[in-house]
Amino acid sequence: MRILEIGETTIPVAATMSNAAIGFDEMTASAVAVRTDRRVGGAPVIGYALDSVGRYAHGGLLRERFIPRLEAAREAEIADPETGLLDPMRAWPVLMRNEKPGGHGERSAAVGVLDAALWDAAAKAAGVPLWRLLADRFNGGSADETVEIYASGGHYRPDDPVGALAGEVQDCMARGFRTLKMKIAGAPPEIDRARIEAAIDAAGGGGRIAVDANAVLDRESGPRMAAMLADYDLAWFEEPCDPLDFDLTREIAAVYSGPLATGENLFSAADARNLLRYGGLRKDRDLLQFDVSLSYGIPEYLRIVKAVEEAGWPRRRLVPHAGHLFAFNVVAGLGLGGHEIAPDANLVLGGLPDGWTVDGGRVAPGELPGVGFEGKANAMAVLGALMG
Ligand SMILES: [Mg+2]
Repeated sequence: MRILEIGETTIPVAATMSNAAIGFDEMTASAVAVRTDRRVGGAPVIGYALDSVGRYAHGGLLRERFIPRLEAAREAEIADPETGLLDPMRAWPVLMRNEKPGGHGERSAAVGVLDAALWDAAAKAAGVPLWRLLADRFNGGSADETVEIYASGGHYRPDDPVGALAGEVQDCMARGFRTLKMKIAGAPPEIDRARIEAAIDAAGGGGRIAVDANAVLDRESGPRMAAMLADYDLAWFEEPCDPLDFDLTREIAAVYSGPLATGENLFSAADARNLLRYGGLRKDRDLLQFDVSLSYGIPEYLRIVKAVEEAGWPRRRLVPHAGHLFAFNVVAGLGLGGHEIAPDANLVLGGLPDGWTVDGGRVAPGELPGVGFEGKANAMAVLGALMG
């Protein structure tokens, strides 16, 4: 199985929302397609992938380094010698050839989005959903029949900061979600307090609302926010401070007894190990949100899972950041704790495949081969155009 062509483009996210750290009006993401020489049912096997939202597109890195490496690879370097099928675990060292360790920067997401497209192609070539391929290969054949999900939203919007949020929470709960994550720390404390209380009222309890500070709090404001949130018995308090400031993470964990969550902006197994060593997190309640696609894709994410388990944490405490279908497959196939999802079906990068429903805060993985983009029309409108 060989790679014949790789297509890549930058798509705008262009949303009028923001969190405490960034606005999304100028946000972009990469879309990738990998056409192979394999045919299934008369059609060529094409692997598709979309970036995780939030760190812009990676076109420069893809075009200058990673796509040329993959296109230059010999079949023997990227295919399983027994089955002849594309093996993304073999392709990963090809992508990482001549890359120094450490200093992950943006390259980890460029590798991650190509890795995701290779897994889509590999699962399609095998004729199975990606979650099934991952379960069989890395989880002893065991996959979850349903996946716990939560709605990721509650952004700051230009007007009506409280009323619109309550409506969003009500809408998500009516659609079957049990938990919604909202943004905090981007407005004065009295506004945040009003927003949190409106969200809790609309959701029916603090345990149904999580809050995300997007890493902007410091040594003074972090503990102050933790003290304010202690009033509400929330589902979790996410990314209170800079993800690499393990000392401050530990200080906040020492004064906040509820669940904390972090990790979406740490991109390697070494970073994950350091967070667990020095961040003061608690394996009985806290959540680890390393993003599969931002962390060099599945090969490095498997090393992260290993590091987490070696530190004595159950893998159910892993709830990857992302909100896209690729991560959903990884959660189901590896038996992780849950999945973030942007509930707006109009979003290309977020939403569920068309017609999928949420029941009791859980979703059953579908049976489409690969990641399942073919079941989401607005994603396929972007991805399908990449191969001309
Ligand atoms: Mg977050």
